[in-house]
Parts: sequence; C-alpha cells; structure tokens
Amino acid sequence: MRYRSVSVLVSICVLVRWAVCPLGAAEPDWQVVEQEAADLLSRYVQIDTTNPPGNEIAAATFWQQVLAREGMEAQVWESRPGRGVVYARFKGSGERKALILLHHLDVVPAQRTEWDVDPFAGVIKDGYVYGRGAIDCKGVAVVQFLAVALLKRMGVPLKRDIIFLGTADEETGGQQGAGWFVENHFDLIADAEFLLTEGGGIRIQDGQRAYEVDIAEKAPCWIQLEASGPAGHGSRPLPDMATVRLVRALEKLLRYQTEIKVVPAVQAYFTALAEREDPDTAVRYRNLTQALTDPTFRQRFLANPTYNALVRNTIALTVLEGSSKTNVIPAQARAQLDCRLLPGEDPQHFLATLAKIVNDPHIRVTVLLNFPPLASDADTPLFRAIRTVAARRDPTAPVVPAVLTGFTDSHYFRRKGIVSYGFTGLALAQEDAQRVHGLNERVPIASLREGIQILFDVLQELVRNPSPNLSTGRSKALSEEASTDYRASH
Ligand SMILES: [Zn+2]
Repeated sequence: MRYRSVSVLVSICVLVRWAVCPLGAAEPDWQVVEQEAADLLSRYVQIDTTNPPGNEIAAATFWQQVLAREGMEAQVWESRPGRGVVYARFKGSGERKALILLHHLDVVPAQRTEWDVDPFAGVIKDGYVYGRGAIDCKGVAVVQFLAVALLKRMGVPLKRDIIFLGTADEETGGQQGAGWFVENHFDLIADAEFLLTEGGGIRIQDGQRAYEVDIAEKAPCWIQLEASGPAGHGSRPLPDMATVRLVRALEKLLRYQTEIKVVPAVQAYFTALAEREDPDTAVRYRNLTQALTDPTFRQRFLANPTYNALVRNTIALTVLEGSSKTNVIPAQARAQLDCRLLPGEDPQHFLATLAKIVNDPHIRVTVLLNFPPLASDADTPLFRAIRTVAARRDPTAPVVPAVLTGFTDSHYFRRKGIVSYGFTGLALAQEDAQRVHGLNERVPIASLREGIQILFDVLQELVRNPSPNLSTGRSKALSEEASTDYRASH
C-alpha cells in the first residue's frame, strides 16, 4: 500500500518537475560542475586538518570564503584554539522545517612515505581526486556544497532552509566540534527537522548498486581495564603480578560469545537486501533470527565481519600496556577494549555483564567513551525523497535503511530529536571504499558528479517549493533567468 502511494507521488513529482523545470532550460551544465567539484576538492584536501591537532579553523575559513563567493555569509567559531566550526544558512520560505547538511572538517593522519601520492597535495589523476579526506569527509562536503549552491544559482524556490555545517574533531569523538556546537549554539539549528551526513551512499558490489541510508549506528562503549599487583625484577616472577592478572581477565572476556540478536533496524536492512539475492538466501534474509539458528548458515553469515557486527555487541581488544622494559615487572598493566553496542542496548547492563565475567576485584574498569545507541525513523519525507530519486535513476537498485557498525557525529543531533541519516550520494566500489582511513584514499570524479546530481535531486524533492501558482510561461522565464545566472557565475 505504501509503495503504491509512493509511486503515485513519484509520477506527480515528475510531472511537476517537468512542468516547472523543463529539461534543458534549468539543468546545470554537469560537465562544468564536475570540473568545479574536482578543483574545489583538490584545494580543500590541500588544507591539512589532520586530527590531532586538527587545525580545522583553516578549513572553516576556507568554506567561509567559498560561501562568500556564492553571496552567502557564513559564521565561523574557534571552539578551542585552532579548532573551527563553520555554519551558513540558505534561506527558504520557512513553510517547512530546516534541513542540515553536516560534514566534519578534520581528517585522520596519513604518512606521506606510505602513499603513492602526497596525501595533502590534492592530486588529480586518472579520473580520481587523491588525498586524505577525498571521501571522508572532504569529498562529502564538496558534494553537499555544490548541490546547494546549484539550487541557489538557479534560483530554485525553497520551502525549507538548508543549513551547511562543518565541524571539528569528528575523528576523535566530536566533543570540540559537533558536541561543542550543539551545546553552545543549538538555537541556530533548533528549527531543523532533518540532517544528512557521511556514512551511507551507493554501495557497488559485484556490479550491483544499493542505496544505503544509515538510520542507526552502533554505539561505542570504550573501556579500560587496569590491573595492579606487586612490582619487581623480571628474574623473579610473581603469581599475582599485574600483567598476569590482566591477561587472565582478557582471556575470559575474549572467550565470551556475545548473544546473537537481530534488532528491527538490522532486520529491515536484510529484508531490503533480500530483493537482489537468490531465492534461498532471500528467504533467510527475510527472517534472519530464524535463519541464524541453522549452524551452517550462521557460520557463513558470521564469517563476514560486517554482518557479524550487525547482529551482536562486539568486543575488540585494541590497546595493551605493561612494562616498557623486559626485566621490569610493572605495578600496573592496562588494556583498552573497543566495545560496540546494538541499537536498544543498555550500556550499564553490558558493563555489569563484563564485570561478572572478569570477576576480579583487582581489575579496575573505567568507561572511556559511551553514549546510548539511537536510531532515526525510516518513514519520513527525507527517506521518501531518497527513494524517489533512486527509483528514477536506478529502478532496480534497492534503497536500504542501514545500521552503521561505526559511529558519526549524528548522535549529537539524534539526541535533540533531529532525524539524522548517513547518506552522501557518492557511489563507491569496494576498492575505493576500503581506502577510507587507509592508504591512497581517492574519490572517482564521476562519483563526485553523480553524488551532486543525486543530492541536488533529493534536495529538490524535499525542499523545492513547487509554487503551484506559477504558470508554465512564468516558470520558463524563471528557469531561463536562473540558467543564465548559473552560467554567469562561472
Ligand atoms: Zn568521517
């Protein structure tokens, strides 16, 4: 029923779009846009915002200047010395609540010696823009900016304001960026209903495309285990030394198998994926809880690290610290565990379970980072706008509400009641997607172009004011004027 009403809506939208926006009159010159996107990203990558220390103020100022050239006044703050936040608002009629386009200004470190190209030179080569942040998240910012800039250049009437927001510090938790902004300047976005940021996009696997929209994220529950015991000389081992205690505790934790559970958001993801699977797999995906009781299927399914992480809380041992000298028994030994909890989980209950398993009063457990796992509703005008655009471009590609195994800054906004999705419009094959945070990060220029087209279309679906009072004649005049405007600005 819902699908039927959506398809009727699609037809109406398409008609309206053709009526007020005849193709050819108000379509951007995508060749020019593609070139602009590649150049802009190349320049943006050259601003080194490696976090730590970040130095995002340089990136915030960069956007302030870029926005000024579009006639947009942006506000920039320094949340801490060197840390920047940039905010600008594209004004609409205010008939509907605002939409935020969020990206982060910082990037993770990159070793020049390990890369084939200089990660901060903004190299354009063989149809790609190379550099740290080319995808995460500078490429996303360029797509977001150009999608909105095109609407403005073309004079498209908006019923919602669109907020362009770039924040510091996402890669180390966002406290100096999105967290700081929400705490100190929430009044500036209090009228926002929706937010789009990094995470999902178009996943290309075995030549097939799927539009993945992150509606939920697993939540981090990062903990430190600290064991203490007598210090001494390595030549006289002690039975209760800190390192031994710690290893015993870790062994118990690593042997612990977390419960397998399929939460509703994850079931929805696999139900959508089932559409393109063979009949046998499709049946299993449609009732995953049932399917996972079959040992053969379970083993095959859990062998995929992403799928495994989607159906259970995970515990990864990542940091180990003991003595720095072979012949010294340290008084303390520490380990850090990167635990991730499914949507709906209670962190306190999870921590109590771990304490019970360790069962050692000489091990101190400290929580390093935790916030409750939150999800956004998938039945919204924004999700439907993405669905509509996807159906128009790729009629056979599924549009999938997904759960991210990692986390972004979305939680700061979800906590405030803003429906937040991870969706960039960037189409990435596995080969490029896996370079994020790795070596030789790059984005195909064709994906930048398509990402802008998709977001431009999604925004039109969601924010365009169809102005039913406009006659076709007047619309045409408006479109032509807008079109001239657009060419003039280049
Ligand atoms: Zn990122």
